[in-house]
Amino acid sequence: MIIDCHGHYTTSPKQHEAWRTEQVEAQKAAKAAPPRPSISDDEIRETIVGGQLKLQRERGTDLTIFSPRAAGMGHHLGDASTSEAWAAACNELIHRVCSLFPKNFIGVAMLPQSAKVSPKNCLAELDRCVNEYGMVGINLNPDPSGGHWQDPPLGDRYWYPVYEKMVEYDIPAMIHVSASCTPTHHTTGSHYLNGDTAGFNQLMVSSVFKDFTAIKFIIPHGGGGVPYHWGRYRGLAQDAKLGVLSEIMLKNVFFDTCVYHLPGQELLAKVIPVDNILFASEMIGAVRGIDPETGHHYDDTKRYIDALPLSAADKAKIFEGNARRVYGRLSAQIEKQTRA
Ligand SMILES: [Zn+2]
Repeated sequence: MIIDCHGHYTTSPKQHEAWRTEQVEAQKAAKAAPPRPSISDDEIRETIVGGQLKLQRERGTDLTIFSPRAAGMGHHLGDASTSEAWAAACNELIHRVCSLFPKNFIGVAMLPQSAKVSPKNCLAELDRCVNEYGMVGINLNPDPSGGHWQDPPLGDRYWYPVYEKMVEYDIPAMIHVSASCTPTHHTTGSHYLNGDTAGFNQLMVSSVFKDFTAIKFIIPHGGGGVPYHWGRYRGLAQDAKLGVLSEIMLKNVFFDTCVYHLPGQELLAKVIPVDNILFASEMIGAVRGIDPETGHHYDDTKRYIDALPLSAADKAKIFEGNARRVYGRLSAQIEKQTRA
């Protein structure tokens, strides 16, 4: 089985996104949000069949671990109750996709975060998504302010209520920022990669992995700048007397393969042990074009893994085994959804 651990519902029905605009406008005007739009099963099917499902089939992947559109989380918009209602709507839609296509999609939740609001606020929605929807992970935004970094770093106890739940449920978090609201940081060109890199560094200098020995984080987009600068982080960890980088980080931190060219993928596989790499494409996502140098979509990342000089057993870990290990509830959820 080929499991893509990083996909978002970027093709969600128009009325869902339109309601979000109305909801945010209503909050600004201190009015109640309008009722949520009705979305039929056929409308959902249409967005998936011609989109993510078509690409799964064309590219030869089987299952996408699927979450709400990341830039659309917009934790910097509105207030805590705006985020709560929006997260509920987005997660419900993901659950509907997973119910309509149980063999192809398994859900991951967005959290109703807001800048400078305790993440305790997110626990009820997290519980609901795991217990009612069978979701197997969360996306955790280290910067709900959208580029202003107003919350404490991920090593701060501020985040511990979420970490306690992650360990309790055996679900990993993908560290994933949302849209940038500052013109100095392009959302997908710099803010995402900065979020990945900053998240890794925040965890590295913290005691999170001493306090939660079983917790697991996935750093998306190939780990941002981290694998390329592994020597820098090894040296920083050494100077700060934190220990050997691979020993302090690699029991708990994993990297996905959303790197959109072969040389980057080669570097990732050379620097990071095979056991810590999870296949992902983030399709249909930030980079949708065709690479004129190869004639294939940049985000058709399976081709790069296929081209790596690794054994079939190692590739099977990247494509399937590691995902089943990192997402502790995944195998049981695959069984459950396959039976459905
Ligand atoms: Zn993403």
